[in-house]
Amino acid sequence: MKVLVINSGSSSIKYQLLDMNNESVLCTGLVERIGEEVGRLTHRIAPDTEDAKKIKLEQPISDHEVGMTLAIDLICGENGVVKDKSEIAAIGHRIVHGGEKLHEPTLVDDAVVEELEKIIPLAPLHNPGHLAGIRVARHLFADVPQVVVMDTAYHQTLPPKAYMYALPYELYDEMRIRRYGFHGTSHGFIAKEAARIIGKSFEEFNCITVHLGNGCSMTATKEGKAIDTSMGITPLEGLVMGTRSGDVDPALHALLARTRNMTSEDVDRMLNKESGLKGLCGMNDMRDIHAAIEMGDEKAKLALDVQTYRNRKYIGSYMAVLGHVDAIIFTAGIGENDYIVRRESLKGLECFGVKIDQMNNAQRAAEPLKISTEDSSIEVWVIPTNEELAIARETKNFVN
Ligand code: AMP
Repeated sequence: MKVLVINSGSSSIKYQLLDMNNESVLCTGLVERIGEEVGRLTHRIAPDTEDAKKIKLEQPISDHEVGMTLAIDLICGENGVVKDKSEIAAIGHRIVHGGEKLHEPTLVDDAVVEELEKIIPLAPLHNPGHLAGIRVARHLFADVPQVVVMDTAYHQTLPPKAYMYALPYELYDEMRIRRYGFHGTSHGFIAKEAARIIGKSFEEFNCITVHLGNGCSMTATKEGKAIDTSMGITPLEGLVMGTRSGDVDPALHALLARTRNMTSEDVDRMLNKESGLKGLCGMNDMRDIHAAIEMGDEKAKLALDVQTYRNRKYIGSYMAVLGHVDAIIFTAGIGENDYIVRRESLKGLECFGVKIDQMNNAQRAAEPLKISTEDSSIEVWVIPTNEELAIARETKNFVN
């Protein structure tokens, strides 16, 4: 069974075709700069094998339909990884925000499209791009079942005490203002992988998953269900990220409006695009920050300290929420590659039984890697995330 996973953004489409008989990646690609003067398509065939091949196209790509058609021409046909479109059994669409109603993988129909349109105010940067991808895919693959898999789905099990803000109740009643959580596909994937590797049934597994990429979030999972997470109604709340502030005092908005005449758009842009690591030291890539620290840059050191201290505070609070913790799992660009961030984020947790094998921790993790010592009472793992595979699995299970 072949499943095509589509992650359609406002000006880009990421895709991956998987053979779900053995979960291998047949091809993957990225269409970028849709609607700009010159668009780009990068297509990789059998990317995880020795026969990997890359094809690059540069040409105007006026809209999502043109972009997707170009991709399909590379995926299918004489030189494609499948001979005909009809070999694709199902399509899984990544959706950042499913609101309160869309939380299970769901077959795309007109009602689903309407619901996604309704919740655009909750995810103005993401859902319009997803809808563009869905419309085109429904047109080009009219007979293929299409499934939406929501990034908010994994956190739908949060109890009200964790998802409610202490705000006037009518904001929830009338506008569904509450915490939703994001990166759910990633948190769910690494939590399940960890349970499988450690050999525990997921229904009995308690863990803290730490997704540290450009966006960063943390989730507490108790007995196989998410019970708390760091992101909120938008992906801004919680940890310190590449350009996003994470938690700040909400009075900041009013203070900046009064004292610096900033509009709500100004503050929103500042908190999302000009804050986090970048706000503190001018750099948002951890590799650059480490290089700058080596050169004695104090602001870079401060940025690392602020991020890792926040990580540690959240890990500690999720330990308190969970009680017993089987595992702490790191993933994504920083979580998988940066042993210094892992080391600093776990510092001081020895008194809770977290013991790190620093030799193991210093390794890069292309495969799941255990970084805790044998006598650590909580296992600590680095597990590479694979959101496309998780979406393909959900799509396959749903269609079957
Ligand atoms: P992601 O959003 O998961 O793709 O993660 C992207 C971020 O991961 C980048 O902005 C970097 O900060 C970080 N990153 C990627 N590779 C490395 C590395 N080798 N060492 C440290 N950080 C890395």
